[in-house]
Amino acid sequence: MNSRKELLQVRELETTFFTDDGAIPAVDHISFSLKEGEILGIVGESGCGKSVTSLSIMGLVPSPPGKITSGEILLDGKDLTKLSQKEMRKIRGQEIAMIFQEPMTSLNPLFTIGNQLTEAILIHHKSWSKKKASARAVEMMKLVGLPRAEELLKEYPHQLSGGMRQRVMIAMALVCDPKILIADEPTTALDVTIQAQILQLMKDLNVRLNTAVMLITHDLGVVAETCERVIVMYNGQIVEEGPVELIFKNPEHPYTKGLIHSVPDMRFKKQRLFSISGNVPKPGTVKQGCRFAARCEYAFDRCQQENPNLYQTAEQHKTRCFLKEGKEASLDDRTAIESK
Ligand code: SF4
Repeated sequence: MNSRKELLQVRELETTFFTDDGAIPAVDHISFSLKEGEILGIVGESGCGKSVTSLSIMGLVPSPPGKITSGEILLDGKDLTKLSQKEMRKIRGQEIAMIFQEPMTSLNPLFTIGNQLTEAILIHHKSWSKKKASARAVEMMKLVGLPRAEELLKEYPHQLSGGMRQRVMIAMALVCDPKILIADEPTTALDVTIQAQILQLMKDLNVRLNTAVMLITHDLGVVAETCERVIVMYNGQIVEEGPVELIFKNPEHPYTKGLIHSVPDMRFKKQRLFSISGNVPKPGTVKQGCRFAARCEYAFDRCQQENPNLYQTAEQHKTRCFLKEGKEASLDDRTAIESK
């Protein structure tokens, strides 16, 4: 896995929202990479900066009030933060595609599935005939496991179930063979059995097409089932990063431990569910100390004064906590350095 090429490198990315309450750093100097064919999970509660990270990569941060205020997003060595909107439109779909939580909001209720899928194909293959685009649409529908593909193309989004609509969105995202698929909470709006099918579909497509997947989720159970590597975000920063197996076996950051502890264990049905006390602070409101200190059961004096760096605690494991203080992670390792 380490020998695989790094497709995407995010380096010291900062995305800020300029509001009446001041400048809010929703993503605060994060660095990570995504390798060819890898499935990377980005996990955290709402407000941790996961979605703003994916919107920054796609060049879709609403502006105003949002703006990438520093850092680089390198795709095959090209810095996406320096591209014009016109250049980014070419990248979106062709190189990086995205699917969202609720497919109904991304599909137009007034047009058939066939209209929308062929239109997406023709945008990127301008010289193709309608017939060729329709044939490709059928092929994509079959690829994502939709039955009666030809008939479904004549139907409207409301005639499909939530799981089928999400399959259509995945088909639409993959029409141009993107190198990277960003999936932002793709299964949150689905019931559990359909959720498992969609996750399995993404895993299958990752293997068959070698598409790298960045899976944004609040659910560590989804990460455990799907991803190879995970980044845990808290309040705009990366607090832990490593291979999924290692993080589940040996979580180091108290926030990650809390998230793992919060995953319901069906063996102990009568046990009270665990939850991390308190809420994620609004970005930019913790001016001093570790951002997790107010919720951390291990916090000590120093945690109220300083924000820890991201420490390299093992070859592929990084943690932002004074209890793991050691070697600071370096940019050469594509890791975050925030010496605040
Ligand atoms: Fe908890 Fe302190 Fe570690 Fe922050 S630095 S996670 S407050 S122990």
